[in-house]
Amino acid sequence: MIRHHPDQNMLLEYAAGSLPWGMSLAVSSHLQLCPQCRQQHEDLNDIGGALLNESEPQIVETDAFAKLMGRLDQEQHQAQDEDTGPTEVEEPPVPTQPKKAGADPILANLPKVVGKLVSSNRPLKWKRVSSALRTSRLATGQDRYEVAFQRICRGGRVAEHDHRGREVTVVLVGSFSDADGVYCRGDFLLREPGDVHRPIATQDQECLCLSVLEAPVKVTGPLGWLVNPFLSFRPN
Ligand SMILES: [Zn+2]
Repeated sequence: MIRHHPDQNMLLEYAAGSLPWGMSLAVSSHLQLCPQCRQQHEDLNDIGGALLNESEPQIVETDAFAKLMGRLDQEQHQAQDEDTGPTEVEEPPVPTQPKKAGADPILANLPKVVGKLVSSNRPLKWKRVSSALRTSRLATGQDRYEVAFQRICRGGRVAEHDHRGREVTVVLVGSFSDADGVYCRGDFLLREPGDVHRPIATQDQECLCLSVLEAPVKVTGPLGWLVNPFLSFRPN
């Protein structure tokens, strides 16, 4: 069950096309997993459409995120993935990755927008950060946000770290917990600068998260410098 959602302002900005693209990526991923927020998004679009109909005709960028998708499509040159944009209503699970021999099963059932990123970054390069954690940075064609997968083994503990910039995490597979609670597939977490946390994956399965980072995090644990997943990240 999804308990953590983008706030109303973020959904409003997303619907208006004014949310920065890194946050849009995270919100879009969440929308494809969360029927509740999809409904809210549809309602906001309906309201926006009604307002536009009452005003003078004008060209309005209603979905900045569509531009990102268009760019990814161009880079991929893959015709099989029909682009309908992030506002499309889809029922999860949303299979996006065709089954291939030797394909990584954890990537088999991702939100469409994330699947596109994976396709444009194949083959993914996984960096082993610790016995519990592997990360894979995703090239996105922009330099304001760092986008990466964080992959925690069953029961794995990630070094404690805090944040110098905002970070959004969307749980894509499995679940993890920290001092504040348990987070499951679809949960959307916004970490503000100064938040400290230490994720621990639950025991039942591997956990995969999408992280969108505005600035690097710094390590707070005594051995964190050895294992911090974000040390390779650079401010842009
Ligand atoms: Zn939601």
